[in-house]
Amino acid sequence: MSAPFLPLTRPTIDDETIAGVAEVLRSGWITSGPKVKELEAKLSAHCGGRPVRVFNSGTCTMEIALRIAGIGPGHEVITTPLSWVATSNVILTCGARPVFVDIDPTTRNIDLERAEAAITPATRAIIPVDLAGLPVDRDRLHAIATKHGLRVIEDAAQSLGGNWRGRAIGAAGDFVSFSFHPNKNITTIEGGALVLNNQAEAKLAEQYRLQGVVRTGFDGMEVEIVGGKFNLTDVAARVGLGQLPHLAAFNARRTELARAYFERFDAPAVRELGLGLPPRDFTQTNWHMFQVMLPGDRLSIPRAGVMERMHAAGIGTGVHYPPIHLFAVYRRLGWKPGDLPIAERTGRDILTLPLFPAMTSADVARVVENLAAILQAHRQP
Ligand SMILES: *Cc1c(COP(=O)(O)O)cnc(C)c1O
Repeated sequence: MSAPFLPLTRPTIDDETIAGVAEVLRSGWITSGPKVKELEAKLSAHCGGRPVRVFNSGTCTMEIALRIAGIGPGHEVITTPLSWVATSNVILTCGARPVFVDIDPTTRNIDLERAEAAITPATRAIIPVDLAGLPVDRDRLHAIATKHGLRVIEDAAQSLGGNWRGRAIGAAGDFVSFSFHPNKNITTIEGGALVLNNQAEAKLAEQYRLQGVVRTGFDGMEVEIVGGKFNLTDVAARVGLGQLPHLAAFNARRTELARAYFERFDAPAVRELGLGLPPRDFTQTNWHMFQVMLPGDRLSIPRAGVMERMHAAGIGTGVHYPPIHLFAVYRRLGWKPGDLPIAERTGRDILTLPLFPAMTSADVARVVENLAAILQAHRQP
């Protein structure tokens, strides 16, 4: 009998959380209420006491941060092309222009030197992404932002529980955005959180979250800004409250599994296949993903062929991400192949391997053995 299918990722939700969700469902209050407030308080404690508000996605937190910062038509926002398309879609949603700069080939994160060089009089903000949970250099990032008077929206969707020089991601900086999609290190099914600078921004975030409404007393209601429908339910918040206490243990387990991957990939017979490995950071990264670079030029099958063969061997893989600037929407804005060669090469050869807390080191061994065998069998003569 063959081993069960090993997915790319899978959330770990314990029985206490499931019982807690049932309790909320029976309570008579299932949409935003006390559980939302409790989750915000716990996340705020994680972020050094800074104000935190939760929402029904990570995407909307970045849109709301841009709106709070007053960013819109005529403004430019600098970001990375190697991310989930949400990162730049929110810039377009607000009517501003995304300006992509190429990535650092080692970290696969935005190249901050290129980011600084791309600043124009129209630039208002930078949105860096901690790809796979590897933090962007926060010292450099905020030095550039301060020097040029720019806002920063850290897309930390993938780096919750990570840190920069010992300080939790979210505990410092300007706006910080997290996602609780099921693939992220903790989940609320769907959801997100935004770390803000002060109570005035938190108040605005609450308005943008729910139709711009401000209530006073028993019957007072005013609407001064156009908000949307971005509130998180108490059912979802209860899932988050059951997840957050496990965040450190989940990330520690992910780190152990990442080490197991390196051990397997460092074996001489695997090493000579020419795979590119991620940076070996075991102190700051939350190991949201383990991504390798296929030796594209030396293979006789395309990446999709490798993925198909892995799937046939009962192993899920993924691509994070095709470069954003080459999607049709962005090409229509003038971006074209060759504009960002490092991101394009990375987007072509990168492959995400299974990594989640419930995996075993035997699973890691199985992934590397199968990948190595496929590469071995399809080496360019
Ligand atoms: C998941 C993710 C988002 C969006 O989060 P949602 O909760 O799905 O809206 C944004 N940016 C990055 C880098 C992500 O990984």
